[in-house]
Amino acid sequence: MERGEGDGGEERKSGRVLKRRKRKWWRRMVSFFRADSKQGEEKQRDEGEERKVAWAGRSSDDYIFSHYTIGDQLGKGGFGVVYEGRRLEDDLKVAVKYVTKTEHTECIFIPDHPKPLPKEVALTILASKGPRVPEIIRLLDWQDRPDHFVMVLECPSPCEDLIRFMKRHGGRLDEEKVRHIMRQTVHAANVCCDRRVLHRDIKLENLLINMETSEVKLIDFGCGDILRSSVYRSYSGTSAYCPPEYRAKGKYHGRQATAWSLGILMFAMLCGHFPSDYDLMLLKQKLWCKPNLSPECCRLLGSLLKEKPSQRLSLGMILSHNWFKVVKLRSAKNHLIFS
Ligand code: ATP
Ligand code: MG
Repeated sequence: MERGEGDGGEERKSGRVLKRRKRKWWRRMVSFFRADSKQGEEKQRDEGEERKVAWAGRSSDDYIFSHYTIGDQLGKGGFGVVYEGRRLEDDLKVAVKYVTKTEHTECIFIPDHPKPLPKEVALTILASKGPRVPEIIRLLDWQDRPDHFVMVLECPSPCEDLIRFMKRHGGRLDEEKVRHIMRQTVHAANVCCDRRVLHRDIKLENLLINMETSEVKLIDFGCGDILRSSVYRSYSGTSAYCPPEYRAKGKYHGRQATAWSLGILMFAMLCGHFPSDYDLMLLKQKLWCKPNLSPECCRLLGSLLKEKPSQRLSLGMILSHNWFKVVKLRSAKNHLIFS
C-alpha cells in the first residue's frame, strides 16, 4: 500500500514533471513560432520598405502609378526589382521591373525613338521588333526617370523561372523536357541575334516557363548589347556561362558566346549542375556520356561546348542538329504538357 502510495506519488510526481515539461515545450514552441512569425513580419516589412525605397522618386502624377497597380515582388537582382502588377485599363496581369540607374547605366539611340533609351529598354524593344515571337518577352510600356527606369512587361500566367521549375522536378530534367525548352530558347536566341541584339545572359533564371502550356520566354536584357560582327573585349553576364575564349584571351564573338551559353544551359538542365573541367575534357574527347541520355544528346552537348569557338556548332545550325529531329507529341490544345 505504502509502496503503492509511494508509486502513486511517484506517478503523480512524474505526471507533474511531464506536464511541466509539456508546458515548457509548448511555451518554447509558441515563442519559436512567434519569433518565426516576427521574422516573417520583419521580412514583409523589409520588402515593404524596399518597395517604398524603390518607388521613392515617384510623384502623384507618376505615369506608372496612374496606369498600373503594383502587387507582390516576383524577383530581385543586382539593380532591379520585379513586381507583379495589373494594367488599370483592362486588368491585364503584367510584370513591373524597377531598375535603379548607376554611373554604368548606358543609354543608346535606336530607330524610331528620338531620345536615347536605357540600354535594357532599347534592347527589349529591338528584340521584339518585327513579327511577334512568343519566346521573347514583350515590353508593353516603360518610363525613364533621371535616377531609375521602369519596364512594364508581359507576365505569363501561371509561370515560374527554370530554377524553380527544375527544383519542382527533382533538380534535373529529362531529355524530352530539355529538348522542348532548348528548342524554344535557341529560337529566341537566334531571333535576338537576327534583330541585332546580343542577350548575353541566357540562363535558367532568365527563362520563364508557363506551367500550363510549357511555353518558354526569354527575359532580362539587362546584360545585353547591340550585336556586332567585331570582337567584344568586355563581358557582362553570369560567370558560369562565360565562354572559355574570354577567360583565356579576354575576347569573344557574340554568336559564338551565345552558343556556348546554350551548351551550359542544356548541360545544367540535364545534369542539375554546371560542367566541371573534367566534364568539359571528356566532352572534348567525345567520351562524355550518361546512361540516361541518348548519344545524339551527348553529341550536341559536345558540339556546343567546344573550347575553340571556331569549332563550336554555329548558333544558326543548332536547331538542325539530329537531336531536335524527333516527332513532337502534342495535346489536343497543341501544347506539350509537362506535369
Ligand atoms: P538584372 O540582371 O538587371 O539585375 P534581374 O535579374 O534582377 O535583373 P530579371 O531577371 O528581369 O531581373 O527578373 C528577376 C526575376 O523576376 C526573374 O528571374 C523572374 O523570376 C521574375 N520575372 C522577371 N520578369 C518577369 C516577367 N515578365 N514575368 C514574370 N516573372 C518575371
Ligand atoms: Mg535576371
